[in-house]
Amino acid sequence: MPKSTPTDRRAGEPYLAQSLLERIDAWYASDQSVAYDEHRARSIIESNQIYSPENLALLLAPESYALIELMAVKAKEKRELFFGNAIKVFTPFYISNFCSNGCLYCAFKADNKIVRKQLTKDELRAEASAISSTGIRQVLVLTGEAKRLTTFEYLRDSIREIDSVFSSVAMEVWPLTKDQYGELVNVGLDGLTLYQETYCRDIYAVQHPYGDKSDYNWRLEGPDRACSSGVRAIQIGALIGLDDYRRELGALAIHLDYLCKKYPDVEMSISIPRLRPIVNSDLIVDHPITDKLYAQILLAFRILFPHVGITLSTREDMRMRNGLIPLGVTKISAGVSTAVGEHTDKASDEQFDIADERSVDEMCTWLVDNGFQPVLHDWNSKLTRSAV
Ligand code: SF4
Repeated sequence: MPKSTPTDRRAGEPYLAQSLLERIDAWYASDQSVAYDEHRARSIIESNQIYSPENLALLLAPESYALIELMAVKAKEKRELFFGNAIKVFTPFYISNFCSNGCLYCAFKADNKIVRKQLTKDELRAEASAISSTGIRQVLVLTGEAKRLTTFEYLRDSIREIDSVFSSVAMEVWPLTKDQYGELVNVGLDGLTLYQETYCRDIYAVQHPYGDKSDYNWRLEGPDRACSSGVRAIQIGALIGLDDYRRELGALAIHLDYLCKKYPDVEMSISIPRLRPIVNSDLIVDHPITDKLYAQILLAFRILFPHVGITLSTREDMRMRNGLIPLGVTKISAGVSTAVGEHTDKASDEQFDIADERSVDEMCTWLVDNGFQPVLHDWNSKLTRSAV
């Protein structure tokens, strides 16, 4: 099993996260069992305790499902205390689905015969215009990882192009170098989403059999490189269902705690997506997550990381999203397509099936009707850039 060593560094890259790599490796080498104590679990919830590995293990334990109502009340209270009634609303903006990686859980993997597309400059403008006409001012730009076709320059020029349309542009693409993140910040990038997918090195190697994404350490250090380059907001996450959920989420929490302490001025959030069906593949979910367990997981993170944002994607259906938003969610997507160019003229296959197809209008109406303030314009990166 590959371990973290300084020789893993790519040429010229600073070595940023040795202590994180060591903590994650130590987590997998440790005995993660914890003796369940209901009194202790109740006390964690009632006395507003925050994250520790033991606190998380107790709230994620199957026995703690008996405390789900208590957890829900506390999670709702913390959501309101830290975030009020505001819910940020954004739309994913797929600009290319070419990919040279082989992630087993993703329809964009290189050996999957799907319709592929990369937006031209005109198509990019048209797509941006169509998305912005829904009222959305915050987008998450997504690509596959095909660096010879979807080059860094293409990515940079795309962000520069749409920066004039949106107030906040985040991206979910392959891990970049520190200098590249800095260059994108200069043309309008203000947020990065980078999921480790699974923190277990063995499962990671199986799920990413070829392509640059098979470099676990390079990916794990991506948020450090972005934080060191001026990216304002970071979202990390794990795709649950690939490994035992407690082991996976224990590692995610270690990563989150590390980033929060090391970069206190960076806005941190997490997402915990469940695996979804994909085109041309019978996806095998080794560790299925039930709806009840999913709710328990979300509540545990809201209670123990009260200041951290939680994003709930359209991988969850309308019923789940409506039920979970009041209990801890701070950011949601709406008007979603996981195909390239679908906001104007559908031209590619989708990355995965979405489960909540509500438009931006429908989602905002539901939020208002349920006492929330939909926030479509939360941050204007242009103002902070011009102020520097
Ligand atoms: S998850 Fe990303 S890198 Fe992996 S196959 Fe899909 S698009 Fe490519």
